[in-house]
Amino acid sequence: MRVATITAGLTVRSKSREDFVALEECHQPMRAFAYHSPKSLAEAVAVLEREGPGGRVIAGGTDLLVQAKERGAVPAYVVSLKDVAELSALAYSDADGLAIGARVALADVAAHPAVQRHYAALATGASLVGSFQIQNRGTVGGNVCNAAPSADTAPPLLVAGAVARIHGPDGQREIPIADFFTGPGRTALTVGEVLVAIHVPAQPDRTGSAYERHTPRQEMDIAIAGVAAQVTLHADGAIAALAIALGAVGPTPFRATAAEARGIGHLPDEATISEVGRIAAGEARPISDQRGSADYRRRLVEVLTRRTIRAAVAQARAV
Ligand SMILES: Cc1cc2nc3c(=O)[nH]c(=O)nc-3n(C[C@H](O)[C@H](O)[C@H](O)COP(=O)(O)OP(=O)(O)OC[C@H]3O[C@@H](n4cnc5c(N)ncnc54)[C@H](O)[C@@H]3O)c2cc1C
Repeated sequence: MRVATITAGLTVRSKSREDFVALEECHQPMRAFAYHSPKSLAEAVAVLEREGPGGRVIAGGTDLLVQAKERGAVPAYVVSLKDVAELSALAYSDADGLAIGARVALADVAAHPAVQRHYAALATGASLVGSFQIQNRGTVGGNVCNAAPSADTAPPLLVAGAVARIHGPDGQREIPIADFFTGPGRTALTVGEVLVAIHVPAQPDRTGSAYERHTPRQEMDIAIAGVAAQVTLHADGAIAALAIALGAVGPTPFRATAAEARGIGHLPDEATISEVGRIAAGEARPISDQRGSADYRRRLVEVLTRRTIRAAVAQARAV
C-alpha cells in the first residue's frame, strides 16, 4: 500500500490585484493529510479502523475535493478506492438484478445496456450528474455517500428498491437505500465502514421507470426538484405497483408513499395521474432559497410526477 502526504490549501478567489494581495495575506495555513491507497477492501477497512475518526474514503473525489478546497472540509486522511479492484464490478442478470461496485463511474452506469433497458430512471439520473468529465470520474457510490438532498441517482435507486452493501470493522451488512440517507450530508455509515456496492433487484415484467429534474440553469446545475417514478402494470393495464421518490424537496431524498397508494389498483389515466401528482406535491417538504421558493418547488414536484409516471407507463407497456 502507498501512503503519500498531500497538502491542501483553500482556493482564494479575487477580482483585483489589491483583493488578491489582501486575500493572500489572510490565506489559511496549508494543512497536510495522508493519502492511503489500499489494494483490497480488507486493507481499506483495516486502514480506516487503525487511523480512526476524521478520515474519508475517496472514490472519484468530485465532491470530496471540492468540499476540501472550497469549504475547508479537509479530512485528517483519505483512503482511496482507486486500486481496490474488487469494487469495480458492474453486473446484471435477470435472476439477481444489478450490482454496482463502489468504484464504478457514473458514465459506465448510464451507458450500460441493461441499466438503460431495466432501470431507465437510473440511467437518466447518472447521465445528468455534472458533465462528461464529472461522470467519468464520479461514482454512484460517491453520489449516495455524499447524501446531498439533490443527488440525482438517489430517487431512481429509491424507486427501484436498491440496497446498500456495506463492509466495516464488524463485517458486512446490507441496508435498504431508503434507510441509508439520514440527513443532508449524513448517511447510516458508521466510522470505518465502506459502501461496497449497491444492489438493485431485478424488476417484474411490465415495469418501467423515469427520472426528471428541474435546474434553474440548463447546464452544470443541481436540481431544485427531482422526481423518479417506477410503475408495474397488471396484464389488464391497471397499476400493480407504483413507487415515487422525490429529491431536493426535503432534508433527504424520500418516497412519496401517499401518492403511491393513490395510484395503485387504478388505471393510469389522466385523472389518476393528475391526482397522484397533486398528492406528491403535498408530500414535498421544500425550503425556499435564492434558487426557488417552496411553492415553486412543490409545483415542480406535481408536474414532474405526472411526467415521470406517464413516461414510466409508456415504457412498461412497451416491454
Ligand atoms: C461541477 C460539478 C457538478 C456536479 N453536478 C452534480 C449533479 O448535477 N448532480 C449530482 O447529483 N451531483 C453533482 N455533483 C456532485 C458529484 O459529482 C456527485 O455527487 C458524484 O457522484 C460524487 O461521486 P465521487 O465518486 O466523485 O464521490 P467522492 O467525492 O469521492 O465522495 C463523496 C463522498 O462520499 C464518500 N464516499 C465515496 N465513496 C464511498 C464509499 N464507497 N464508502 C464510503 N464513503 C464513500 C466520500 O468520503 C465523500 O464524503 C457535481 C459536482 C461537481 C464538482
